Amino acid sequence: MFTPPAPGNWSAMNGGAATTYDLFDAVLLDRDGTLVEDVPYNGDPEKVRPLPGAREALDRLRAAGLRLGVVTNQSGLAKGLFTTDQMRAVHARIEELLGPFDDWQICPHDDGDGCGCRKPAPGMVHAAAAALGTSPGRCVMVGDIGRDMTAALAAGATGILVPTPVTRPEEVAAAPHVARDLPAAVDEILRRQAAVRPTAPRRAGTVLVVRSDSAGDVLVTGPAIRAVAAGARRVVLLCGPRGRAAAELLPGVDEIVEWPLPWIDGDPAPVDPDDVRALTARLTAVGADEAVVFTSFHQSALPLALLLRLAGVGRISAISDDYPGSLLDVRHKVPVGVPEPERALSLAAAAGFGLPVGEEPTLRVEAPPTALPAGPYVVVHPGASVPARACPPERWVEIVAGLTASGHRVVVTGGPVETVLTSRVAAAGGTDLGGRTGLAELAGVLAGASCVVVGNTGPAHLAAAVGVPVVSLFAPTVPFGQWAPYRVPLVRLGDAAAPCRDSRATRCPVPGHPCLTAGVDPAEVVAAVHLLTTGIRR
Ligand SMILES: [Zn+2]
Repeated sequence: MFTPPAPGNWSAMNGGAATTYDLFDAVLLDRDGTLVEDVPYNGDPEKVRPLPGAREALDRLRAAGLRLGVVTNQSGLAKGLFTTDQMRAVHARIEELLGPFDDWQICPHDDGDGCGCRKPAPGMVHAAAAALGTSPGRCVMVGDIGRDMTAALAAGATGILVPTPVTRPEEVAAAPHVARDLPAAVDEILRRQAAVRPTAPRRAGTVLVVRSDSAGDVLVTGPAIRAVAAGARRVVLLCGPRGRAAAELLPGVDEIVEWPLPWIDGDPAPVDPDDVRALTARLTAVGADEAVVFTSFHQSALPLALLLRLAGVGRISAISDDYPGSLLDVRHKVPVGVPEPERALSLAAAAGFGLPVGEEPTLRVEAPPTALPAGPYVVVHPGASVPARACPPERWVEIVAGLTASGHRVVVTGGPVETVLTSRVAAAGGTDLGGRTGLAELAGVLAGASCVVVGNTGPAHLAAAVGVPVVSLFAPTVPFGQWAPYRVPLVRLGDAAAPCRDSRATRCPVPGHPCLTAGVDPAEVVAAVHLLTTGIRR
């Protein structure tokens, strides 16, 4: 919330080009197979061959003010296959052909050395971000194999995979984002960067923002709601009953109106004319000057836009592929696969609202209560609001047993309807907090954890909102790049290529639920927790 400046001083507010923020400061690039042709253990500058379009693509990033770093595993040094001087000559040749880089991070070790720098460990992403004067969350890593993506995500950076013929199909399936070549990856970075910048920044009085649906949906809309709040005198949030607890935690919201919307709810009541009339009257009473209606891509903003027109709201912004007629003043379109928080930020930007400079576009909640358990612990959250996104209980039991056997203290969390599940899972060695936390208390418990193991469900986004690393057991029913916990250190597990992929199923359509049954190895979960808590792969 801002304090309205004195009349005539509006230009000092959020709005001008000087006060817009950016998603990214730097792009980190893998070397072999991404910038230059992969010549195994190359110590010869004469063999350096840039990939097609690389120079021009890198120059576009430089022109956009993005800093560039190279992040490369060079185990040929450990193996004695070339010398440091030879490698330096190769790098001088790369800069001669591709232009200067602001930082080079080189891991000289080999597999088995147990270093924290060799990808997929995240050490070089952290080091590059520090050397470039930024944080991993403000970096994009572009690479050609799964190790590049794992290192990027484990550091909290954005990852874009540019596959080559040798990239394994499972690595392509698991990648958060895929581009066909380096120029296409650069297009994507610049497009995402531009999409969240308001082209016509505005200030407003009362703005009604709308995000129906569940807690996770409300949490991922948080950055966009803060962007609106930065330019509005007052923000009223219309949410559904399942999102109410999350709405209470969002910074920037002055008032909450809770109403189930039958065209949004997954289990809707029949449309009741009296209810629609009552909602229209309630919306009229809000007295909003304008409205920004946030939706998922499978939801329509138009029924509510009609009611907002009936309620006299003067300016309405929403994403709509369907023709809106006179229902929308700002009709925004977004390509598929954009992370949900950025998708919402891009609608806010289209409506004229951007985050103030210096405010990170991360998920956030108001300071949660202090954590209940003392000392280091890992949270295991076995439930999921959608059954297709839940691991079977017996797998969770194995995960908790594996974590406790590795010396981790485990806290098991769950909602009031999940207590049978949490007590069964916690019996394998964890403290059972199932049913004993509201969403705010859960945020406190998550905030005190060193790491959270959870499926694609609300608490994964709550963990992101309190900045805690996530081991995501991610059913591929929806796109990972769109729904992964945003801008937080992350390891993705589960079979990304399982037949349920992109089905949007709420109940797994595949016998045996393979994506999160055979697809999740408890030992991999323990290794992922180790990677996220120590930075070292084992
Ligand atoms: Zn190393």
